[in-house]
Amino acid sequence: VARIAFIGLGIMGGPMAVNLQRAGHEVVGYNRTAGKADPLIEAGGSEANSVAATVAAAEIVAVMVPDTPDVEQVLLGDDGQPGVFELAEPGSLVIDFSTIRPDATRRLAKLAADKNLQILDAPVSGGQAGAEAGTLSIMVGGSAHDFDRARPVLQAVGHTIVHVGDHGAGQTVKTANQLIVAANIEALAEALVLLSAYDIDLDSALDVLGGGLAGSAVLTQKRGNMLGHDFTPGFRTALHLKDLGILTAAARAAGVAIPVGALVTELMSSAKANGDGALDHSALLHGVERLAGRHPA
Ligand code: NAP
Repeated sequence: VARIAFIGLGIMGGPMAVNLQRAGHEVVGYNRTAGKADPLIEAGGSEANSVAATVAAAEIVAVMVPDTPDVEQVLLGDDGQPGVFELAEPGSLVIDFSTIRPDATRRLAKLAADKNLQILDAPVSGGQAGAEAGTLSIMVGGSAHDFDRARPVLQAVGHTIVHVGDHGAGQTVKTANQLIVAANIEALAEALVLLSAYDIDLDSALDVLGGGLAGSAVLTQKRGNMLGHDFTPGFRTALHLKDLGILTAAARAAGVAIPVGALVTELMSSAKANGDGALDHSALLHGVERLAGRHPA
């Protein structure tokens, strides 16, 4: 049983904190905007009203916020407010579940070590459904010792949990994940618009496609959104665009060409520019419909 501070109770962090509490850990949640801790409290956890109060007495600090500047704000502090690195007891382990830049992650790891704190990057995949079911895929960067220490915590929120290398490696694997997911969604959206143009029954088509090599977790999880044009997030398009920015920068820095990655980045950017930023990333379908002049959103 670990005493866990959980910072960021959004679409992902909320259900992850609940699953940690249900697994027997003692979770104190904090969310910048009040009112998101009710499910955690119902599960037996508690809520604190500041980062300082959350971190007090915790041995593990979990963070699940949107972007690199948000993680930096939480860990390093901002505007005179102390961050986790200043507040946490020496020896505490910080698990950053957020998807952020690998280079920023490595810098944060150095700053953590200066404070005698341990840190892991542990970005996740599996979406809101995986967060709620506790079946996320977790790609972990950091030391093997810290990975072993984190294992009971990670097992409460994930099924596929892999230590992929040193600090930042988890984020680099996550960036590959986001390339594969975006390309899959775009291909599925293009297939659906093509099939509609031929008046093919889309449910039947996806049943048979899903059983062959074209089947995918994206097809299984996103067909309902796409067929019903229900783009309630889920995973917001604006966040996926953030991840594709990390991807294209990482590829450029490594001198690796990712033409499909670059293309889906532009399409995701267009989705946001057309007002779809707050919708689930399966709303890439809108963009294909716009290009085809069919059912423009
Ligand atoms: P979300 O629903 O927007 O939740 C983000 C949470 O972070 C909110 O509770 C928000 O608080 C808090 N927050 C934002 N900026 C903050 C700051 N500067 N300081 C303190 N708290 C801050 O986002 P999400 O979908 O859970 O995504 C979280 C992370 O998981 C992202 O890195 C995302 O890329 C990654 N991810 C998401 C999914 C998915 O399917 N949604 C899947 C895999 C990975 P407020 O309530 O005050 O805004």
